[in-house]
Amino acid sequence: MSDITRLVCPAMTRSRLRLPGAALAATVLATGLAGCATETTTTESGVELVTDGELTVCTSLPYKPFEFNQDGEVVGFDIDLMDLVAQSEDLEVTVVATGFEGIQSGQSLNTGECDVAAAGMTITDERARVIDFSDPYFEATQALLVPADSDVTSLDDLSGQTLGVQQGTTGELYAEDNAPDDVELRVYEDLGLLTQAVNTGQVDAGINDNGVLYDFANSNDTVEVVAEFDTGEQYGFAVQKDGNPELLELINTTIADAQEDGTYDEIYAEWFGDAPTEPSS
Ligand code: GLN
Repeated sequence: MSDITRLVCPAMTRSRLRLPGAALAATVLATGLAGCATETTTTESGVELVTDGELTVCTSLPYKPFEFNQDGEVVGFDIDLMDLVAQSEDLEVTVVATGFEGIQSGQSLNTGECDVAAAGMTITDERARVIDFSDPYFEATQALLVPADSDVTSLDDLSGQTLGVQQGTTGELYAEDNAPDDVELRVYEDLGLLTQAVNTGQVDAGINDNGVLYDFANSNDTVEVVAEFDTGEQYGFAVQKDGNPELLELINTTIADAQEDGTYDEIYAEWFGDAPTEPSS
């Protein structure tokens, strides 16, 4: 059960008074999209929702096994965890598929496209300035995918060759910082296009998170994962910056409870085969 609330947007009025010229237009537009144009609802426990009765989840597809289409439905590890969050408030999960760039920049959350982003997204300081992260729920490193007949086993081996990266990701940043200068980076919009490029030989290698690349290599013996780089990443779910502390709290308690009572391990085993050997946070 929830009450309909209309936002009154005092922040927008303040911005109007303070900001001149072009900055004004941009800020008012952003603020308008963030709240004023959107009618949100609030549950009894104070969680704000863009659509009554639904937990609207932004994700970027495909990112198997975290989120991907299966028989016309978006499923995966992240989606199962979002289902747990939704269940605890008697909500239905609605998935909105959108670009990863808009998710990690905070745009999708600021424009009221969704309540929460669940996208195998690494918690970084830069992102934490524009979105609010939950507690960490998964650990990851970067990894290197190459055609099965390739001699490449490291970034250095790629000297003079091409390396596929996914736009806006930590893998893209890692490649920019660590690949030899004469490696040509090719940017792909999503993981599907990146893995396809490696599989068809459009690029000599591709970099992305270990979980998704191992998953792809496990079902495609034309490619293999030949290196992992110990980036020590942790995934977090995200809500609008300073926008929904009650939802963030609900996500954190739901994940903590699931880790405590074994539900997390069951979900992990469903998508990765074995229960994690180490605590995930
Ligand atoms: N974990 C990586 C990042 O946050 C990739 C996430 C993704 O592509 N969905 O940048």
